[in-house]
Amino acid sequence: MKKKYCIANWKMNQSVEDCENYAFKLKSSFCKTSSEMIVCPSFIHLSKIKDLFGDLEIQIGAQTISEHLNGAYTGEISVEMLNDFNINWTIVGHSERRQFFNETNQDIQNKLKIAVENKINPIVCIGETLLERQNSKTIEVLKEQIQTTFDSINCSNIKLIIAYEPVWAIGSGVTADLNTISETHEEIRNILSKIISNSEKVSILYGGSVNPDNCEKILNLKHVDGFLIGGASLDPEKFLNIYRKMN
Ligand code: PEP
Repeated sequence: MKKKYCIANWKMNQSVEDCENYAFKLKSSFCKTSSEMIVCPSFIHLSKIKDLFGDLEIQIGAQTISEHLNGAYTGEISVEMLNDFNINWTIVGHSERRQFFNETNQDIQNKLKIAVENKINPIVCIGETLLERQNSKTIEVLKEQIQTTFDSINCSNIKLIIAYEPVWAIGSGVTADLNTISETHEEIRNILSKIISNSEKVSILYGGSVNPDNCEKILNLKHVDGFLIGGASLDPEKFLNIYRKMN
């Protein structure tokens, strides 16, 4: 059985007060199950969230990292800085990083490489745009994203998560239909098996407008090992509700 994950991507949201309220709610109702929960707040709240969560069995991750170890890269955060705070997960290649910060597959490979070399476990996001899907390019795009990102990278010493997030389903309220998710996850597993050793250990998550009402049906699909959640993860009750339904 592959590990199941429920991951919150808070993006550029939540105040310190929101973080405190969130932690308070989790402390009163979170119960660890066989699934892992990972929360990815903004960089500036990582340390605060780590303190607030205390000994709750919830892991914490960053939303991106620099592709450089250190140096004159104003505004960037390095893997060494994450390691200083014992943060051992990061999202890599989220579609908003690709879209608004022009990250290419090559940039994402550089980030993956530095993460893996520094024992930060990556959550690698892939996904097609609506136009690419309409033009029947989905598999081609995903293959290209996976091939370039993982080219000559050895992931055998880390935990690796792939998040399939169709760009058109992110934050849109439109979830991909069950057939689309099922077929695409199966394709991704096939692609991974040709590119990554021990690919059967890789968890493939779905992301795109997941909420407490649609999560169960999606999770019942064969190749879905959990979720990466944006909007619904901002509300601790909704997020916990989804986490509980995973077990
Ligand atoms: C995301 O940003 O990774 C995401 C899946 O967002 P949402 O759940 O809001 O669609």
